[in-house]
Amino acid sequence: GPGDVHAELVVLGSGPGGYTAAFRAADLGKKTVLIEKNDSLGGVCLNVGCIPSKALLHVAKVITEAEEMAAHGVSFAKPEINLDELRAFKNDVVGKLTGGLDGLAKGRKVQTIKGFGTFTGPNMIEVEGPDGKTTVSFDQCIIAAGSEPVDLPFIPQDDRVIDSTGALELRDVPGRMLVLGGGIIGLEMACVYDALGAKITVVELMDQIIPGADKDIVKPLMNRIKGRYENIFLKTKVTAVEATDEGMKVTFEDDKGESFNDTFDKVLVAVGRKPNGKLIGADKAGVAVDDRGFIAVDNQQRTGVSHIFAIGDVVGQPMLAHKAVHEGKVAAEVCAGEKRFFDAKLIPSVAYTDPEVAWCGVTETEAKAKGIKFEKGVFPWAASGKSLSNGRSEGMTKLLFDPEDDRIIGACIVGTNAGDLISECALAIEMGADAVDLGHTIHPHPTLSETVNFAAEMFEGTITDLM
Ligand code: FAD
Repeated sequence: GPGDVHAELVVLGSGPGGYTAAFRAADLGKKTVLIEKNDSLGGVCLNVGCIPSKALLHVAKVITEAEEMAAHGVSFAKPEINLDELRAFKNDVVGKLTGGLDGLAKGRKVQTIKGFGTFTGPNMIEVEGPDGKTTVSFDQCIIAAGSEPVDLPFIPQDDRVIDSTGALELRDVPGRMLVLGGGIIGLEMACVYDALGAKITVVELMDQIIPGADKDIVKPLMNRIKGRYENIFLKTKVTAVEATDEGMKVTFEDDKGESFNDTFDKVLVAVGRKPNGKLIGADKAGVAVDDRGFIAVDNQQRTGVSHIFAIGDVVGQPMLAHKAVHEGKVAAEVCAGEKRFFDAKLIPSVAYTDPEVAWCGVTETEAKAKGIKFEKGVFPWAASGKSLSNGRSEGMTKLLFDPEDDRIIGACIVGTNAGDLISECALAIEMGADAVDLGHTIHPHPTLSETVNFAAEMFEGTITDLM
């Protein structure tokens, strides 16, 4: 085999958490080794997550916008979709980014070792790779092993059952597709396949899609997809899936205990993700992993073993790339002897559906549940010149303020580009801005960003009548 290696710092897993940590540590002078089992760097996010899904969502947006132009007097022909070329576009985007990481690693002299790493002791990882075994001894370690899709054991193994990775492979466009799980990942994929021509059914156990976001914020998305999709079943569970010649026969049970069934060409299982903590031999290093596979860390990303850190999806919710990146920087800087802590006030969440749903800080649901006092400023996009010019009227910007000092404590936005708009609110909350700061900052007109300014003014009472 390639033999033995010593690293001052070894990073296990090269997703957004892992590569960020490795690069930061190398920049701070650490001799760093990065271990990755897959052929390419970048983890779930770059290879089978954030990036390929967004490339396809962009295409979906162009298709549906072209369709809807007919209502404004401009009609296009039905799109001709060449799946091979579409897949190539998506793969090319992914390839540029993952290839870029190889260059960034080389430039910093971060040694990458390809293979599956498991701990064999508190200062040792063994990597089982295509070229044999490598033993890596280390002074410090950052675990960034990420997560994988949860599969439902009662669903049969079948080509017609896919997870998000399968959906992103874009093998075909099914006639009728069931999206099992109304969370962010399921709804994003539903948006893509709907635009490509599949008839979509969504089933969700909870009483709303995107559980976690406020109900009023999710409503405009719900209204829109209700009009486009075949069915959206809420408060409904899937109790059985059977492979038949006609398709996958799915049995549903609603909250009254009534059962019914339907048959689909494809079933996308999007019921959540599970951390990879149990697969890395953490016990050999003395690192505790809970029943679900999560690794507990302190506010410096340190596990119970003082020279071993953990970051990203493997340490807990929310399982988001930007959280992994932030934690990666904290861990690397602590490893290099800096006094860094994870002290972010918020982690924004975005569903890149159409319309997008974004929120950060305290949500209204959370404030009510925890008894946090708040007052709100709400601006409906039906009164936004920019949104109407875009042919869309269904958005909403809702800001939550602390009634004591009028500081912003939360923001929820639904509408096109909500994901980009939420960052201003995140900055405002981090900086302790109040309603006057937001209301008196001149925003360019006409933009969607004005809705943040207007929502603050609605709270202040400095605008009361819309339009
Ligand atoms: P991962 O990205 O999971 O990377 C872990 C890496 O470690 C993998 O490359 C894995 O191969 C490697 N690894 C694991 N164990 C070992 C081992 N023992 N030896 C060697 N290598 C190992 N998040 C967002 O913020 N925005 C989005 O828009 C978004 N969209 C998503 C869309 C989809 C379809 C999916 C599935 C996820 C999406 N996410 C999104 C979530 C995001 O991908 C994750 O939060 C993020 O990738 C977590 O980063 P990480 O570094 O913790 O781990």
